Amino acid sequence: MQAYIAGKPLLSTTDWPSKVSCVIFFVGCNLRCRFCFNGPLLEFLDQYKIGLEELYPELEPNQYLIDGIIATGGEPTLQPNPLKALAEWAKQNGLEFGLMTNGTRPDVVQELIEMNLVDYIAVDLKTVPDRTEYVKVTQTAGDILGQVNKTINLLKSSKISYEFRTTLVPSLIDTLEQLDLIRQWAGSKNYVLQQFRPAKTVLDSSLNRAFTPEELTRFTRYAHPHKIITRF
Ligand code: SF4
Repeated sequence: MQAYIAGKPLLSTTDWPSKVSCVIFFVGCNLRCRFCFNGPLLEFLDQYKIGLEELYPELEPNQYLIDGIIATGGEPTLQPNPLKALAEWAKQNGLEFGLMTNGTRPDVVQELIEMNLVDYIAVDLKTVPDRTEYVKVTQTAGDILGQVNKTINLLKSSKISYEFRTTLVPSLIDTLEQLDLIRQWAGSKNYVLQQFRPAKTVLDSSLNRAFTPEELTRFTRYAHPHKIITRF
């Protein structure tokens, strides 16, 4: 089966909390988030086309060292068949399967859950739940917010483990009022704040600085009483 995948599987102890995982980078994305640093992975370029079967020999040597495989991107749900095939391979080999997604394909998330193919899903909440703000931050038109809402509700009513994540970005996502709105939308349970790290590949080059430790303290103080997790 053909798939658009970048690079070799990477061993990680951070992408899936409390798990050692192999991370697979699915190429292609339907959003263009201003703070995205994965610019080279957003288009379905021929150079990334591989037979999915080529991946398995790369994963097999790690099979007994890892807890699971996690798909990230880009946006993995844009390639539902390779995604399901990889999840099936993981399950057949005694591994768990995780997914990091922007939440815009609830149909794919639902299918993975119904087929018992996924154990953990992390959904990025890009900004406050307002259509105009979502378009502004993701530079993408359409009913993104409605789709993300469906994904949030799916996960909340499922039995799988999940996380909602927001990236704090100076001058974009940087006020406690914004965090209040996102927290009221998704709930504090399993809600994680992470920080933006500037890079040459960031889509909007005006976003070129990280928060200082002093600035981050403001968010840590906010997070603590709400039981929000910070990964700074
Ligand atoms: S940050 Fe946005 S544009 Fe970049 S891969 Fe994720 S969803 Fe796509």
